[in-house]
Amino acid sequence: MLGLMQDWPLLMHTVLDHAAIQHPHRDVVSRSVEGPFHRTDYATIRGRALKVAQRLMKDGIRQGDRVATLAWNTWRHLEAWYGIAGAGAVYHTVNPRLFPEQIAWIMNHAGSRILMLDLTFVPLVQAMADKLPLVERFVILTDAAHMPQTSLRNAVPYEEWLAEADGDFAWVRVEENAAAGICYTSGTTGDPKGVVYSHRSNVIHAMICTQVDAFGLGAADRVMPVVPMFHANGWSLALSAPMVGAALVMPGAKLDGASVHEVIERERVTFSAAVPTVWMMLLQHLEATGARIGSMNRVAIGGSACPPAITRAYQEKYGVRVIHAWGMTELSPVGTLFAVKPEVAHLTGDDMLRLQAKQGTPPYTVEMKITDDDGRELPWDGTTFGRLKVKGPAITRRYFRREEEEVLDENGFFDTGDVATMDENGYMEITDRSKDVIKSGGEWISSITLENAAVGYPGVAEAAVVSMKDAKWDERPLLILVMKPGVLSPNLTQMRDFLADKVAKWWLPDDLVVLDEIPHTATGKILKTRLREMFKDHRPAA
Ligand code: ADP
Repeated sequence: MLGLMQDWPLLMHTVLDHAAIQHPHRDVVSRSVEGPFHRTDYATIRGRALKVAQRLMKDGIRQGDRVATLAWNTWRHLEAWYGIAGAGAVYHTVNPRLFPEQIAWIMNHAGSRILMLDLTFVPLVQAMADKLPLVERFVILTDAAHMPQTSLRNAVPYEEWLAEADGDFAWVRVEENAAAGICYTSGTTGDPKGVVYSHRSNVIHAMICTQVDAFGLGAADRVMPVVPMFHANGWSLALSAPMVGAALVMPGAKLDGASVHEVIERERVTFSAAVPTVWMMLLQHLEATGARIGSMNRVAIGGSACPPAITRAYQEKYGVRVIHAWGMTELSPVGTLFAVKPEVAHLTGDDMLRLQAKQGTPPYTVEMKITDDDGRELPWDGTTFGRLKVKGPAITRRYFRREEEEVLDENGFFDTGDVATMDENGYMEITDRSKDVIKSGGEWISSITLENAAVGYPGVAEAAVVSMKDAKWDERPLLILVMKPGVLSPNLTQMRDFLADKVAKWWLPDDLVVLDEIPHTATGKILKTRLREMFKDHRPAA
């Protein structure tokens, strides 16, 4: 017997339709790439997104075609997303911080036929245009007055291009499992892989993110996505904000501490989301100027582990609750979020901060387990760590154009490549990435735990731990440090003494080297593959 409810497919445009009907005049404010602030609302965004869809079809874009964007968070990028998906096509967000060769590789792999790009990226794309043979047209996200001189194929200013559509158009109805967007992983581990979101997975994931114990979004919120839309699906905010009628405040191209602060104050932002580096920069600005962020009441921090010092400062000094979150491109991206369950509500002070250093608990729709190398499930005791695996309706089951490759285990779980503990209350804590864990005498040493402990040494700016080959133990930890300017580095004995009461004795590093700089990925994470390559023949002196 079937249920007798209506068939109402979960399509992206339904989110924008709802926002335009229920919250037509809600602000969508952007710092434009051209400079000035720009104000619009959901009703207007919807009208223009319909024009984008109509205009794309005039350019020959059809269902399933890819249309790429290389753009900051602004209202135009938002219109482009909904317009592309609303034409039945697939938005493909490209990360401008990748190397030009990677961008060309990704563009060609995705087969994007049109590229919409911000003024900022015209020189970059111009220099690599001959490597983008599949792009038929370049739409520059600006108006005629700001259009630069360019030899890019069929280049047009977005506003002129859009004006050629009258908006008399209906969304192209696709089925809810049709592709809506593609985002490539940043390639920390090998070639970038294309993650293909569907309309259904995007809508379900956005609903999850609005929940009270997730981002807790409502119509009274003024949401500022600092996390760029080209990072891991923009953490859902381009969907979850309009879904509940929250105002959107788009920060554009300027993401330094002072600029982010200016937008928060000017637009009375209540909620924001970004990687720890951004919140570190804002904190430095606040400390240096004595400025406040009175309108903000919570902030989601993820992408890499949020140091307790940041959580403490925001919560205790600025009254902003920190929502530590973990996720990855393959999870749409949110996998866990930190909220206080009644079981832990009695914790205070440092005990609560210690718990908040964990990445939180999976929301409904994210099934989670930890296993050993043979796939056996491990206990949720807060200390045993193993491979973190997940299952759910907004989690990857295959990568684009690698359909032959099985990425799920025999029970349908996706191996995240992260190593984690789960505690008795369901809180997950990342202890490493599986490729970075140091396997010493059959036991695992967490490189992240060692790094976090080592940065506590006075004067250490950054720490990374990689494995060294060892005849007896197979692998042993090598500690790599970058010191703050003008500070003398500790020697190995001093560092080992410092770490002795923080980690198990057999975890202590067997050698230490100091570098001027540690290599990073385009998304700001330590590039362990490069470090491993640099130190592959390194052996401890003694
Ligand atoms: P990539 O996998 O290419 O680096 P992602 O942006 O998808 O690109 O990164 C996902 C990874 O980032 C996760 O697998 C995890 O290792 C790391 N990560 C994300 N959030 C956190 C967090 N809160 N704490 C620790 N690590 C995190």
